[in-house]
Amino acid sequence: MTDIIQVLPDHVANQIAAGEVVQRPASVVKELIENAVDASSTRIDLLIKDAGKTLIQVADNGKGMSETDARLSFERHATSKIKLAEDLFDLKTKGFRGEALASIAAIAHVELKTKQAESDIGTQLKIKGSKVKSQEPCVTPTGTVVSVKNLFYNIPARRNFLKSNAVETRHIIDEFQRVAMAHPQISFSLHHNGNELFQLPETNQRQRIVNIFGAKTNEKLVPVEEETDIIKIEGFVGKPEFSKRTRGEQFFFVNNRYIKSPYLNHAVNAAFEGLLKDKKHPAYFLYLTVDPKSIDINIHPTKTEIKFDDEHALYAILRSAIKHSLGQFNVAPILDFDRDANLDTPYNYKEKAISNPTIEVDRDFNPFENSSNISVKNQPMRSSFPKQKASKENWEALYTGLNNEDSENFTNIEFESEEVSGRLFDEDPEETPNRTFQVQKKYIISSLKTGMIVIDQHRAHSRILYEELLKNITVKAAVSQQLLFPLQLQFNAHEIAMLHELKSSLEQTGFVFSKLEEDDVEITGIPNLIAESEVSILLEQLLSDFEHDVPDSGFQQTDLLAKSLSKSMAIKTGNVLNTQEQLAIVNGLFACKEPNLTPANKKIFVRLTAEDLEKKFI
Ligand code: ADP
Ligand code: MG
Repeated sequence: MTDIIQVLPDHVANQIAAGEVVQRPASVVKELIENAVDASSTRIDLLIKDAGKTLIQVADNGKGMSETDARLSFERHATSKIKLAEDLFDLKTKGFRGEALASIAAIAHVELKTKQAESDIGTQLKIKGSKVKSQEPCVTPTGTVVSVKNLFYNIPARRNFLKSNAVETRHIIDEFQRVAMAHPQISFSLHHNGNELFQLPETNQRQRIVNIFGAKTNEKLVPVEEETDIIKIEGFVGKPEFSKRTRGEQFFFVNNRYIKSPYLNHAVNAAFEGLLKDKKHPAYFLYLTVDPKSIDINIHPTKTEIKFDDEHALYAILRSAIKHSLGQFNVAPILDFDRDANLDTPYNYKEKAISNPTIEVDRDFNPFENSSNISVKNQPMRSSFPKQKASKENWEALYTGLNNEDSENFTNIEFESEEVSGRLFDEDPEETPNRTFQVQKKYIISSLKTGMIVIDQHRAHSRILYEELLKNITVKAAVSQQLLFPLQLQFNAHEIAMLHELKSSLEQTGFVFSKLEEDDVEITGIPNLIAESEVSILLEQLLSDFEHDVPDSGFQQTDLLAKSLSKSMAIKTGNVLNTQEQLAIVNGLFACKEPNLTPANKKIFVRLTAEDLEKKFI
């Protein structure tokens, strides 16, 4: 009988381990920065090229390594951070597995320069695919510089799997920010392709957060502090009025390590109960300190989940600490719980001069009057937000699409069966609906020869807008309304990177960006059918819908964009529609290619046949 089991050669074992440790350039960034933090550095500089695909370099001024340690650091399970199994229960460092450098060196070209304070001369080591190519003395400042080039050079499948540079850069920024936020006493910088993205001086927690997320963040923070036997809580939560639709600014750090915890997140949300509108997420930056013995550190190297001994107690303590802060800083009582969500304005509007929205109601309006006599002038745009400037006649564009050329004057619109591609009304053109009514400010009902149809107004309008938007983005540009005063908005570095990717598609829908930089976005033109006051919410929702990834493929991107915008722009449940508006929705819907389903594949209408109705009367 022959033996067939072999111990894998080191470089193969390392490559397998690398598959777990290094998923993308951001994983390398995380490991290298954490090593620099563990080396007691006070300054850490990260430099990347081509989203880390070409180069990732981390330079620190920490304690450095001896010649032998430099060599050993690339061996698997080589670590200076634990010696005994017991040490695992008292971890003060970020690393302890001794896997990162070995893994990285298995799948990239790595160059290390390092020097300890007491030595005059440092050492330089070059490794390629786990093989040491050279080690020589070199002149270098105290500390360590690790350069990782051509990541995944020997695993083409992995390399091809990487996302666009913008997406990979965002992941890197994420990792960078998380470590930077946990260590305000260390100064950090990040350069990408020669551009400075962050320059963070040594400071305190609050200022570090402000330096990362922009000056405007300062006024939004409410401090949270609590100390009990089992946990110390420090940090900040965002005031409820600044909560966002995106989950972006939510950070837990446990013993200075970024973690994700749906359970503790729930505790924060519970503390905000009653203070937030639906689907809004509070910002939080919470630093928890617990006894290292009370957490399970034996977690996956790249995972951020954590297991606490007494989660239940932590939940209660966290929740009450936040509630207390919100109360103490007078955040809770000043809120008006019953106000209409539609009237909420983004924070930057607060600084603007007040302009009273005008609502005009045509009391003489008779829906059954001959349509050619109807005055269009007095119909305000039916939007879920008060429109800030007089919208003249273009309100009807809401129903007929973005392009004004296409939008017939309402007085000319009749329910013509040739225009209707849906089979629904083809049965008898005479029977096409010209009488509709609205039920529960949600459904439009119309009779058919064969029975009746009930249409969900929001869903129908989303479908109409979605098809128009798709057409505009792919075929022709939409008409844009120029703003008298450019709109100033703030977004963080992430969001800006995403907006850059979406910019050209957004411009096709009518947006005009005159500036698109961190904390400084200026919009001078917006799509014809949205009100200025909607813009910030719309963009926020858009970024939230894209989560963290903007698809590379043009079609997917366009499709997602059109889905998101149509959802936000569509008239909402709760909007009262006059007869014309109801008819326009019905008309627009059945001129759509796909009138049955919303872009999110939900049913738009139901038909009740005479038979169905009869059955109900049995
Ligand atoms: P771990 O961090 O889990 O110990 P790594 O593979 O990341 O494993 O690093 C191996 C060892 O190399 C570390 O334990 C540390 O002693 C040394 N090392 C790595 N990076 C640095 C650095 N920037 N400065 C000083 N020592 C370092
Ligand atoms: Mg490490």
